[in-house]
Amino acid sequence: MKIWFLTGSQGLYGEGTLRQVAEQSQRIAEQLPVPVEWKPVLTDAAAIRRIMLEANADDSCAGVITWMHTFSPAKMWIAGLDALRKPLLHLHTQANVELPWATIDMDFMNLNQAAHGDREFGHVQARVGVPRKTVAGHVSDPSVAERIMTWVRAAKGLAEVRTLKLVRFGDNMRDVAVTEGDKVEAQLRFGVSVNTYGVNDLVEAVDAASDADVSALVKEYAEQYEVAPELLGERNESLRYAARIELGLRGFLESGGYKAFTTNFEDLGGLRQLPGLAVQRLMADGYGFGGEGDWKTSVLLRTLKAMAPDGGTSFMEDYTYDLTPGQELILGAHMLEVCPSIAAGTPSCEIHPLGIGNREDPVRLVFDAEPGPGIVVGLADMGDRFRLVANEIDLVAPPQPLPKLPVARAVWRPRPDFRTSTESWLTAGAPHHTVLSTAVGRGELTDLAEMLGVELLIIDADTTTERFAKELRWNQAYYRLAQGL
Ligand code: MN
Repeated sequence: MKIWFLTGSQGLYGEGTLRQVAEQSQRIAEQLPVPVEWKPVLTDAAAIRRIMLEANADDSCAGVITWMHTFSPAKMWIAGLDALRKPLLHLHTQANVELPWATIDMDFMNLNQAAHGDREFGHVQARVGVPRKTVAGHVSDPSVAERIMTWVRAAKGLAEVRTLKLVRFGDNMRDVAVTEGDKVEAQLRFGVSVNTYGVNDLVEAVDAASDADVSALVKEYAEQYEVAPELLGERNESLRYAARIELGLRGFLESGGYKAFTTNFEDLGGLRQLPGLAVQRLMADGYGFGGEGDWKTSVLLRTLKAMAPDGGTSFMEDYTYDLTPGQELILGAHMLEVCPSIAAGTPSCEIHPLGIGNREDPVRLVFDAEPGPGIVVGLADMGDRFRLVANEIDLVAPPQPLPKLPVARAVWRPRPDFRTSTESWLTAGAPHHTVLSTAVGRGELTDLAEMLGVELLIIDADTTTERFAKELRWNQAYYRLAQGL
């Protein structure tokens, strides 16, 4: 994926000045925190429109950064901005950090005009109404670099979801509301295609896995995890079957080009175990997943994983609380499917009964999540639009050991406090399934929501339930108006 760097100017300045503009613009491009494809300085409407159409058409272009080194009369930009369908970052910078106070003359002034050139450009961006991020400051400033990188990560997530294919094995859990949603609207808004296969299509692939491949994978488990002795002894067949599920599932996803999937414990067909270990390991390899047929959370998980492939990001569910006054904690987990990318140590591979699903005991990885700051984010379909809700959290070590809990889990303190967080979350109608990430934060989510034109509400250290309720009301009006008639 590439980012293009576009510089605006105009023909009025003459060849010599435009050469200087090009040289200085290349120097700016080289200082950006991400390698960019530098494009020749733009000086007329036809060239601007053409390059925007080229950006749209080039699948390797993840986004466009623009900078007006000099004054670029912005009516030239209208057609191009109106045509642009790729993420846009307006970098408000200039070639020099300090002004050369002792030597500054009118030549210098006429060359270094971003202060008003970018204002002209900002005006037309606002007038056209193009979604964008504006970043101001010298390109050498680390905070500027970080804000650009945040946008780049969001653009990577956008590029992923635009072409994402998701497969559901079975439908979603019967009678559940929040895992429903408009799959046509999702394809229009996000780009993702969501389709269902009968779970027995997966069973065929699982049954077809070779014994030799199963043996090799079981060996890999023994090297990577603390495998319970019984799984290497009298219950080895259960571990081998878990490996068989992984081989079948991985093969099915690879052959169909699917990077996200869902399962449903109500619809397991001929599967002998609810997929646990396989789902956990596939998530660790970057796949999106949602339990109970929850394709929206699976889409979100894959999108966030694409933004920060090496980070900790998992499917999660708010499970139960410690309501000790003033020290409230949320314990998040799922029946089995928590991604080991958030694990604090080496996961243990265990087998335990599971009352749900009506199948043989499933194999799973068990661990505690690594403490530290993070975010949980949920995606809901509100009927007339999608809504993202995020809560900044602090993951903590469990206050006591959990020797009887045979499932991977995360314990966190929501910001600003338990009451404000949960009351706001519930008021927003946000889901019980989420994506928990310590690798992607509010910045990436904000930029992604802007790129997608999707509502995002953030519950953070400054949230009050009163202001949050008002924001919900204002958003309700805004998003309905923004949809037009
Ligand atoms: Mn669930």
